[in-house]
Amino acid sequence: MTPFQVRELNLEAIKVGSWWPILDDLHEAQVPVYRFIQKPGDLVFINTGCVHWVQAIGWCNNIAWNVGPLTYNQYYAAIERYEWNKLNSCKSIVPIVHLTWNIARNMRVSDRQLFELIKFILTQSLKYVQLTLLYLEEQFHDKLDIRKQLRTSDEPAHYCITCDCEVFNILFVTELDRKHVVRCLNCTLQNDKHLENVVVLYQFPLDDLTTVYDQFQLSLLPILNSPT
Ligand SMILES: [Zn+2]
Repeated sequence: MTPFQVRELNLEAIKVGSWWPILDDLHEAQVPVYRFIQKPGDLVFINTGCVHWVQAIGWCNNIAWNVGPLTYNQYYAAIERYEWNKLNSCKSIVPIVHLTWNIARNMRVSDRQLFELIKFILTQSLKYVQLTLLYLEEQFHDKLDIRKQLRTSDEPAHYCITCDCEVFNILFVTELDRKHVVRCLNCTLQNDKHLENVVVLYQFPLDDLTTVYDQFQLSLLPILNSPT
């Protein structure tokens, strides 16, 4: 099913995360549908990108795991959904930019295709951080104080309170109902174009990000347990 077909079928319902389709619509759109009863002891594995529904037909325990193996297909599907969410103003549960920097910091990747896609996302993110800093410098010079506030270890990823997009590294903070809220650059400018009541924080120094970027290289070491 292409995103466009999904959109035609029921975009609003997908956005809120609960969508029970009309089977005739799916048949008409030639979307293959598999329907079966999961018996006690059965484990059902649903692959990346497969829309699915579960309905109880009696008393049962519902146990489900979301797994994210670090493969090209999984990561590509995650990026695709993340971008689709942005275009359709849906909040992404997984903060992909934050996750990608964590992968670059902590993991070795030996699959070239996966490596190149991760590197591409890092490039886009680094470019955005650099351009944002440059823009702030050019537009606001010394009128704006950009403060360093490093992340705490259990700090969650930040999302824009207005448009729900992930806000990575450079946070535009304002006070709303006596609470500090974060916005992205675009929403901040729409709200306060001179940034008069905005505090700008950065959580990772640019040098730190460029070091992580440079050090993230394709791992050429043999992978243990690989088939010979
Ligand atoms: Zn925003």
